[in-house]
Amino acid sequence: MNYVVFDLEWNQCPYGKDFENPRIPFEVIEIGAVKLNEKKEYLDTFHALIRPTVYRRLHFQTSRVIGLKEADLRKGRFFRDAVRDFLAWCGEDFRFCTWGTLDLKELQRNLDYYHMEKLLPGPILYEDVQKLFAIAYENRKDRRALNYAVEYLHLPEDGEFHLAREDAVYTARVFQTIPDDIIKTNYSIDCYRNPKTREEEIILRYPDYVKFVSREFDTKEQLLQAGDVTAVRCTECGKDVRRLVRYFSDGGGKNHIAVGKCEEHGFIKCKLRVRESEDGRYYAIRTTKRISEEDMLAIRKKEAFLRLKRQNRRRK
Ligand SMILES: [Zn+2]
Repeated sequence: MNYVVFDLEWNQCPYGKDFENPRIPFEVIEIGAVKLNEKKEYLDTFHALIRPTVYRRLHFQTSRVIGLKEADLRKGRFFRDAVRDFLAWCGEDFRFCTWGTLDLKELQRNLDYYHMEKLLPGPILYEDVQKLFAIAYENRKDRRALNYAVEYLHLPEDGEFHLAREDAVYTARVFQTIPDDIIKTNYSIDCYRNPKTREEEIILRYPDYVKFVSREFDTKEQLLQAGDVTAVRCTECGKDVRRLVRYFSDGGGKNHIAVGKCEEHGFIKCKLRVRESEDGRYYAIRTTKRISEEDMLAIRKKEAFLRLKRQNRRRK
């Protein structure tokens, strides 16, 4: 399997959000990519400038940040042709690598706009190099800019940042420094196109947790009533476990937390995040992991505290 490290530059409506086309808020104007083999050795480079057809003028921020001019882009290729070539160049057996989560999403949104979504079926497993950098070198949670990582690692800085080709090269260089065991256990999943049916639902096993991506529902309520989605399952044996703390809402109502106990494998924490899909439907990302008794007690305490707070508010 090869790695395709890619970076996009995009433009947005130069006249402000009120005038943008909601189907394509960010129009891709440049694709840069580097192909690596499975040992992360350099194989090839891809580059395309794209002639914008939705927003023909550059937004002032786009022209400020990236070194491209409208005249350059007028010489570019049409997105349809460029992206077809790009995906053909990627080959059959590859995994995308990007800096952060946005590039893959905008690539798919642009494909949708041109009704070319069949070229890139989702959900897509990929390597988020920004996340891998944080895991390998920092504290897991930080999300740094690409130039920070390049400086941090003392990698050669021989090109400008914020050009797709150069950024793809830099991202590839950072990726080359990430140890293989970290890459193997920390891949990401892009849910721009999430599962539509129960059969397509996804279960990913990481060393210390299990991630589940549900099918879509029309409403949040329907989702929260689906027993198979809200089930608390043991990460080891897969059994539905007895609940010690029932689901409660944490983090502004987006996260729902529950704790259960498997007689054989101990305490299991379940976090359900409800997300809205591009077309206004709902799906859940559920992560499950084993926790200590101490952690279980802390969560129980928090649940009781939030419940009291709610009741007090009601009384007032
Ligand atoms: Zn178990």
